[in-house]
Amino acid sequence: MTEIRKVAVLGTGVLGSQIAFQSAYTGFEVVAYDINDESLQKARLRLAALVETYRKEVTGAAGLQADTMGRIILTSDLAAAVADADLVIEAVPEVLAIKQALYEKLARLAPSDTILATNSSTLLPSDLKDFTGRPDRFLALHFANNIWKFNTAEVMGTPETDPAVIDTILKFASDIGMVPIPIRREKAGYVLNSLLVPLLNAAAELAEGGYANPHDVDKVWRIATGAPMGPFQIYDMIGLNTPYNILSHSDEHAGSLAAWLKENYIDKGKLGIASGEGFYSYKPAD
Ligand code: NAD
Repeated sequence: MTEIRKVAVLGTGVLGSQIAFQSAYTGFEVVAYDINDESLQKARLRLAALVETYRKEVTGAAGLQADTMGRIILTSDLAAAVADADLVIEAVPEVLAIKQALYEKLARLAPSDTILATNSSTLLPSDLKDFTGRPDRFLALHFANNIWKFNTAEVMGTPETDPAVIDTILKFASDIGMVPIPIRREKAGYVLNSLLVPLLNAAAELAEGGYANPHDVDKVWRIATGAPMGPFQIYDMIGLNTPYNILSHSDEHAGSLAAWLKENYIDKGKLGIASGEGFYSYKPAD
């Protein structure tokens, strides 16, 4: 099994910054790459915000000090970022052409034994494997947003991925504090989104069709199943733009759900927790 010591994270947006920070927090040396100085400046702000979040929300992190940040190098030099990485985790935008172009560069720049992993939410690793130059050392490693508390890591190879590489990444996921979940055959949406997307769509259908209002849909789900959150609370946590984008690209009926979300919520600036209001209000009481 390959020993992972040095990790390169490509893309320092919402998920990339979290993956870089969590890996450094758990003791790994991390190089985080993004395309230009402006993106790296945003990354610095995201990482600084994560220091505060961990201090508040992660048991044992109250005294979190500079050593975590000291283990993260930020760079816009891709060749330097991956030169001696044991593992590259790609978290760049969910656009096939961007990812393919990046893997074509990695095929040349990353040492041939470096393992490459994509955090893609909707693409299959088979969509990308032929661009990596090493299909046997390529797989998906899928995190959930807010990885310090929602710590699943779904690990999914293609039929060409070496089983030893899958084992290496299951162990790495565990080493960085995740609960590793092997996905045994390629499946768009992994386990998480295969379950969550239909639940969120069904909830939207109930509210859009006038059967029950969002708060009552949530109440039924919470009380009758014991779940801590209802589907509309989950919408607010994710942010309404992402489900809207998924619905807009789904079948015809989903289009009317997308329009309902847009007209009643998104166009009114109700985007979820991040905007202070979605299906619920998060504004501090006056
Ligand atoms: P994001 O838009 O927040 O961040 C993407 C980052 O990639 C940006 O910093 C951007 O500057 C950078 N980037 C753009 N082109 C690049 C390139 N060629 N090379 C390197 N960096 C580049 O996106 P995100 O939400 O962090 O999503 C990234 C990936 O993670 C996607 O594949 C997405 O499906 C997946 N994902 C996202 C979530 C989520 O909740 N946001 C959850 C799980 C998985």
